Amino acid sequence: MTTFTVQAIPTFQDNYVWLIRALDSAHVIVVDPGDAGPVIEAIRQQNLIPVAILATHHHYDHIDGIVPFLAQYPVPVFGPRNGAIPGMTHPLSANDSYLSVHDAFPDCRVIAVPGHTQDHIAYLFDDCLFCGDTLFAAGCGRLLGGTAAQLLASLKYIGTLPSATKIYCAHEYTADNLAFASVVEPDNPATQQRRQDTAALRSQGQITLPSTLALEHATNPFLRCQQASVIDRVEQHVAKPLVDELAVFTALRQWKDAF
Ligand SMILES: [Zn+2]
Repeated sequence: MTTFTVQAIPTFQDNYVWLIRALDSAHVIVVDPGDAGPVIEAIRQQNLIPVAILATHHHYDHIDGIVPFLAQYPVPVFGPRNGAIPGMTHPLSANDSYLSVHDAFPDCRVIAVPGHTQDHIAYLFDDCLFCGDTLFAAGCGRLLGGTAAQLLASLKYIGTLPSATKIYCAHEYTADNLAFASVVEPDNPATQQRRQDTAALRSQGQITLPSTLALEHATNPFLRCQQASVIDRVEQHVAKPLVDELAVFTALRQWKDAF
């Protein structure tokens, strides 16, 4: 039984800060507060009581709100040990360790998911994965510190979680990612359906998250680098045979970077 709800706070152009709220309680955990203002406003409006900040990685749009937030609400700050994260009180490094953030919440799993950065981590509360800029809806993060091999391994590990796992990534990139996915897999009906569904949501100004792992397996080309259709299309794009899944993934990531 899930004992919390999750609320999105939009910040900047396309970021989401996630508030994890314990049921029948005002306690909230704040994930990746890149901007403090909208988060503090949401907390005040709803009379919430923040109990912790979780950071997935050190990029400004995930952490710049931490210090101003702490000035209002001095709470513990969890994040990757090697990240340059101001205000950190609980550096994390263990892979797959269980973390008790606060009594009002279930323990979460801390999962090392390097690739977007060297020390990116994700937090799994029950079936809800807060994965920062690692796995996006229909896409994945850029390589900004880690390697393609690391990112592929991280995505494959996430791919082993139950298919009902909800994906709370940190950006509203779904429509753009699906435009690319449609070029990679023009004949994938699940991709076309998702593109229509996403366009309908966005035309009403609605969020497209969370995704589910099942939907990602069906439509996200970066989780589908073993599919013949994806391999063929990427080989066609680079005009040469690709020796293995990592070569396909690397070429696909480079293709998307230039898309
Ligand atoms: Zn990032």
